[in-house]
Amino acid sequence: MTISTVPKTMLPSGEFVPVLGQGTWRMGENAQIRKQELQALRLGLDLGMNLIDTAEMYGSGGAEELIADAIRGRRDEVFLVSKFCPQNASRAGMTAACERSLKRLHTDRIDLYLLHWRGSVPLEETLAGFDQLLRAGKIRHWGVSNFDLDDMKELVSLPADLLKVATNQVLYNLARRGIEWDLLPWCKERLLPVMAYAPVEEGRLLDNTTLKTVASRHDATAAQIALAWLLRQRGIITIPKASRPEHVRENSRSLEIDLTDADLKELDVAFPPPTGPRSLEMS
Ligand code: NAP
Repeated sequence: MTISTVPKTMLPSGEFVPVLGQGTWRMGENAQIRKQELQALRLGLDLGMNLIDTAEMYGSGGAEELIADAIRGRRDEVFLVSKFCPQNASRAGMTAACERSLKRLHTDRIDLYLLHWRGSVPLEETLAGFDQLLRAGKIRHWGVSNFDLDDMKELVSLPADLLKVATNQVLYNLARRGIEWDLLPWCKERLLPVMAYAPVEEGRLLDNTTLKTVASRHDATAAQIALAWLLRQRGIITIPKASRPEHVRENSRSLEIDLTDADLKELDVAFPPPTGPRSLEMS
């Protein structure tokens, strides 16, 4: 097994997690590629990408079941993130959703449990649900996903001293830089890690000419540059999904790339930063 060389970032609780993890959306859906998906996830663990992100929604639970197989015998190496749907965000709904996820994941705890996106259940009730799950030892940390700045401000204004949000998981990549205007600086000020999903824009970034030009200077690939661009920032965790082992290996090597000022300027021209507030995008 390879010793982990993936740098870590600190959650508000003081616990450290790897800045490069593995996503699982659209995994666990196709029996024909299950073996390859298991190999990919296990290789990711060997390479130190031992934060795995999933959700009850992915493959209607199939992704969680795949992960259970991938981490069999290695549970303690993994920082497991799962998400519940907003329609399950009531106290009772969360308890039931969490039990179902634990069963599919073959584990007794989820390391970080996220509200997938905001629905109609009042946040106070969801926070009470998190509190209950924390006290029962079913989850170790909690957080949110797809929360814009107003949602975050409302969240931290609630009387929940015992509870500290651990992350906000949002769409963030070179082509989706809207959060740099307000949400990202707000999170950084509070030392709240942001978990960037769809880091290669589900593959759509990979044909970009500028990315390819920068990549050629580093003897790298467009995917590696897109990941390196995120990973150069403090407090960003990213979770590329790769069901092919060769993609996992390639992604782990993005950590070796140091983008120069000239690279960053070129990327800013091709993918301009926001010049004003934008609505939070979701995929
Ligand atoms: P993504 O990671 O940007 O892209 C995944 C796609 O890129 C897959 O088709 C994958 O191919 C390909 N890929 C990965 N590495 C590659 C490489 N080195 N070279 C070429 N292609 C590569 O998109 P995503 O899956 O939407 O986002 C990542 C994770 O974030 C998800 O899996 C999920 O865990 C999470 N997410 C969360 C939310 C939310 O609402 N909270 C929304 C979307 C995603 P292969 O699979 O063939 O290797």
